Amino acid sequence: MPCIDANTMLYGIIGHPVRHSFSPLIHNFAFKTLNINAIYLAFDVTDLPSAALGIRALGIKGLSVTIPHKTSIMPLLDEVDDTARQIGAVNTIINRGGWLIGTNTDWIGVVSAIKERGKIQGKDYLILGAGGAARAVAYGLKKEGAKVVICNRTYEKARSLAEELDLEVIKWEDRNDFRAYGLVNTTPVGMWPEVDKSPMEQKALKNYALVMDAVYRPLETCLLKQAKLAGCLCVDGLKMLIYQGVEQFKLWTGKEPPIEGMFKIAIEILQNEQN
Ligand code: NAP
Repeated sequence: MPCIDANTMLYGIIGHPVRHSFSPLIHNFAFKTLNINAIYLAFDVTDLPSAALGIRALGIKGLSVTIPHKTSIMPLLDEVDDTARQIGAVNTIINRGGWLIGTNTDWIGVVSAIKERGKIQGKDYLILGAGGAARAVAYGLKKEGAKVVICNRTYEKARSLAEELDLEVIKWEDRNDFRAYGLVNTTPVGMWPEVDKSPMEQKALKNYALVMDAVYRPLETCLLKQAKLAGCLCVDGLKMLIYQGVEQFKLWTGKEPPIEGMFKIAIEILQNEQN
């Protein structure tokens, strides 16, 4: 890796909190492997308008954006592309000579992750949740030709998302009786430390060929354990996370990052956390 000098390019992530983020690890690994003179840092940001000025003033080349800034960053940018506008969230900023462009790579993350194991085109999917992750998952699956049904604890939120993206909706109480090709959990149910919780009953999993969990702490969630038992194809949330990062890296550098190595370091860290 070139040493940090006066030519080192700065990238990073803005969020609050951000100390749990994998992004610095995977992007710095990629910069190092490809011998790119760049560094990626985590910025815990509460004053977003000042941070946006800072991006321009300091010439930060690119940023990832995470909770809670994915929507509030939009009016502070010079341009937001159609994809991010339709999803309603920006997770990536590209700085082109002081002109800040917002886009979204979360949908590519989920589509790439699912395509590795199963099919999307012409299949029906049930999405649990109607928050930020659900928006990107629904957009991606629909764009790739799936029929998408939304199911959320708060029905009104599901209905409003369904209306916006032209999806169908079912009630939260009906989720265990539903049947589809794929199921994607985008609620935090099952996330560490509540690792024994699942948003679905075991018997319902036989109604699906493929199950994906956006939760990646732990890597194998209770829902994925149930799905494995039921013989489903399983897709973990780390895949979505890494593939959205891969897309960001390509947008920023125009180069293909070392995907295998990025997975390896992220898995090592997750396994250490669990020990
Ligand atoms: P969010 O915007 O806060 O949305 C959370 C959604 O989950 C809401 O629809 C909420 O329903 C529902 N929910 C929350 N607690 C619930 C419970 N106990 N039972 C049933 N439903 C519940 O959050 P988000 O950004 O979408 O993130 C959701 C999860 O996805 C997090 O665990 C996050 O770590 C994960 N994620 C993963 C990736 C990845 O790359 N793998 C990317 C983004 C997010 P209500 O509307 O009823 O509140």
